[in-house]
Amino acid sequence: MKRQPLNWIFWIVLFVFLVRTINCGRGKPSSDQKMNVLLITLDTLRADHLGCYGYAKNTSPTLDALASTSIVFDHAIAQSAITPVSHASIMTGLNPYNHDLRSLHGGVSYQLPDSRLTLAELMEANGYATGGFVSAFPVTKHYGLHQGFETWDEEFQKKDQVKILSETGVVNTGTAQRTCDVTTEKAIVWLRQHAEMPFFAWIHYFDVHDPILLPPDEYLKRFYPKSRDKPDILRSVYDAEIAFMDDQINLILKELEALKIRENTILAVLSDHGEGLGDHDWWGHSILYQEQIRLVFILSLPGRREGVRVSSLVRSIDLVPTLHELLNLNTTGKNVFDGKSLLEMMDESEAPPRIAYSESINDLTAYYDSQMQNESLYAISDGRWKLILHREKSNDKGVELFDLQADPHELTDLSEKHPEVSAQLRNQLDKMQAILQDPPRPAMDEKTKERLKSLGYIK
Ligand SMILES: [Zn+2]
Repeated sequence: MKRQPLNWIFWIVLFVFLVRTINCGRGKPSSDQKMNVLLITLDTLRADHLGCYGYAKNTSPTLDALASTSIVFDHAIAQSAITPVSHASIMTGLNPYNHDLRSLHGGVSYQLPDSRLTLAELMEANGYATGGFVSAFPVTKHYGLHQGFETWDEEFQKKDQVKILSETGVVNTGTAQRTCDVTTEKAIVWLRQHAEMPFFAWIHYFDVHDPILLPPDEYLKRFYPKSRDKPDILRSVYDAEIAFMDDQINLILKELEALKIRENTILAVLSDHGEGLGDHDWWGHSILYQEQIRLVFILSLPGRREGVRVSSLVRSIDLVPTLHELLNLNTTGKNVFDGKSLLEMMDESEAPPRIAYSESINDLTAYYDSQMQNESLYAISDGRWKLILHREKSNDKGVELFDLQADPHELTDLSEKHPEVSAQLRNQLDKMQAILQDPPRPAMDEKTKERLKSLGYIK
């Protein structure tokens, strides 16, 4: 039977209609516009230095107010105490042994493979504009954390291209960082440009990581140290830097309100790990006691449950599956997460307990004068019991076992008293196949060196 001309006209009209509909949905707001997502990661911020997590000093009025209208996770655990590794878990919903970014240093095992699906890639594939604004080298393109971002801002690297990486791949962040006000300014410009379309933005602040870039004097004066002892001074600077970041978050929130998109924006605020600040005789991070892996995790879902505290153990890998469920994102066929949506935690019913895995592959710190020489750490916790396994190269060095309910500060190792608990947790670690039998060595092949030269990291 011969096709009628009218049929052709119908198909052309339908085609034009569909194209216009798709374009309209991508660029302009509609009455049922998708929710935006704003992720703020606060590098090196230990939870117990915020008022909403019990701190006595007034470091965080903005975050405290936000927490009072949000869901706050009191026992959220990082999957690593190392910046790029932890961020890769936040961004993929995968444990490090599945996303394969496991090391800060060395030119090996340091880059998130292209084959891994990031939150930004997932959002971009679902029609969201994506913008990433980071404040330090450990979350840059070098580590593959830019995947999926149409706009990517890491301009600070121009200041210090030579010293960041040695020829063996050892990283010294140094001044390859910027203060939160600079990052905020960049992010606000982008938010204004993208306020009328669904977006996913990631803002990363680095201020509390170290005292290399200091906050303005008014913040330092507000947290003046009680003595001239170095630890007191450094803790005071740490608190001043939190207050500086908190004020910048306030600017971001005010901007969302001015743009009339606050009620249409999901806000997730997480740290990537904490900081020793002298606890367990450790000042920095990269080990796995609670002060280093217990996270700030605040989720603001406008129009949904507000002012909720969740005490059960959750993980940073649970963020992506939560957003995936909340936004009903279309899958691309490769979004298998180790994490699990947190929405069930917000119901009245009791949610099944979760297991948190954390690691710190520190073999390459042998190149620094570090207490951690040649040691890698693996931790697993069911919320009450926590096992930390110490390894040196390919051998076990020992374990520590803590009862977090009775001993939240991890002062008493119970591994000899409860060997059956240690064995059961160690068995779970083995089942995960998380332990590296041959940890990465500091070496860069020629291909890696050439790539880093092309990015300007080495000469
Ligand atoms: Zn970090």
